[in-house]
Amino acid sequence: NKMKEFEYNVLPSRVIFGSGSVKKLPAEIERLNVSRPLLLATPGKSNFSNQLSDIIQAAAITIAGTFPHAKAHTPTSVTEEATAFLASVAADCVVSIGGGSVVGLGKAVSIRTGVPHISIPTTYSGSEMTPILGETQNGKKTTRSDPRILPAVVIYDADFTMTLPPAICSTSGINAIAHAVEALYATNANPITSTLALEGIKALAAALPQIVRSPESKAPREEALYGAWLCGAVLGSSSMGLHHKLCHVLGGSFALPHAETHTVVLPHALSYNAPAIPEQMAKLATVFPGSNGDALRGLELLLQELGVPRALKDLGMEEGDIEKATEIAAGNQYPNPRPLEKQWIRELIRRAWAGETAK
Ligand code: NAD
Repeated sequence: NKMKEFEYNVLPSRVIFGSGSVKKLPAEIERLNVSRPLLLATPGKSNFSNQLSDIIQAAAITIAGTFPHAKAHTPTSVTEEATAFLASVAADCVVSIGGGSVVGLGKAVSIRTGVPHISIPTTYSGSEMTPILGETQNGKKTTRSDPRILPAVVIYDADFTMTLPPAICSTSGINAIAHAVEALYATNANPITSTLALEGIKALAAALPQIVRSPESKAPREEALYGAWLCGAVLGSSSMGLHHKLCHVLGGSFALPHAETHTVVLPHALSYNAPAIPEQMAKLATVFPGSNGDALRGLELLLQELGVPRALKDLGMEEGDIEKATEIAAGNQYPNPRPLEKQWIRELIRRAWAGETAK
């Protein structure tokens, strides 16, 4: 097989991986030449910031403050509050700990103020590996990309993911798999991103059912976090197609929950694109256990095993919204392996809404 031409930009990111690696945080703060961290968290997760405080203070570093008010979809009002707080306590870096919502706040504060951002992700959203920032203002979501949005350091410590309920692990993990699936057929796909994508999916597809079966065991949590990292990395360097556009529309226009929406839509988006991507489907079949040569079947089996939500109607979408979503999603053409055909996009959304099995 002749290799296709490709271009690949490696995004500059520093990753520290391993159970217990949070203890390296003080050294990372010093390495960045800063000394007054502001801790960012979501409400109710003060145990995370307390643990970080203990580690930081034990290294005789002063914590400038803690801002535990991160919200989903990065509202600019919250970012402005956090930025004002950062200035008032004279912080010179931010440390985000939590899911994609906190990572988003860390990115938003860092890009506005120029202070470096250390991220300690505790879900599998992958946002910490991307130069992309989605923000909402007056109910409208805008997205921008800038290499300076990438965190300076990411610390993956599975110890902080042990409390993530298996149900959230599952939807967050399928959200990560969705990044990698779309990277396989992205217009700018290349052998490196494809290798990372398959390795990421393989790790998550193996680990997620084990987390559901034994939530206390650490090895699958580490394997899932490793998979999430790779899936986030390919998200950061690949253009996304139908699946991500649809989820963006559904999340943005109908306020559906992020990871759950990705979970419901993925098999249907893959089924829509399948006829146009036979090579990628064959590769996918090798990483979903139980595929037996059929990637869609492998994905369906995984979703059944995880017991995740399967219908958009169960996530709060009204039947009348199917038409509205179709209009927005099929409104403008964008690169996707199979051209966007409105009647089939409508059928895809209807199936996902009703919770039908993808075929
Ligand atoms: P999230 O951050 O809202 O977390 C989901 C839930 O899990 C929250 O209730 C949170 O408190 C809880 N949680 C997180 N870690 C936990 C832990 N270790 N133990 C117990 N509970 C824990 O949601 P998410 O799915 O991680 O991220 C979604 C957000 O990230 C969305 O706003 C999405 O747009 C954004 N995102 C951005 C990118 C990007 O590249 N810019 C990529 C993916 C997602």
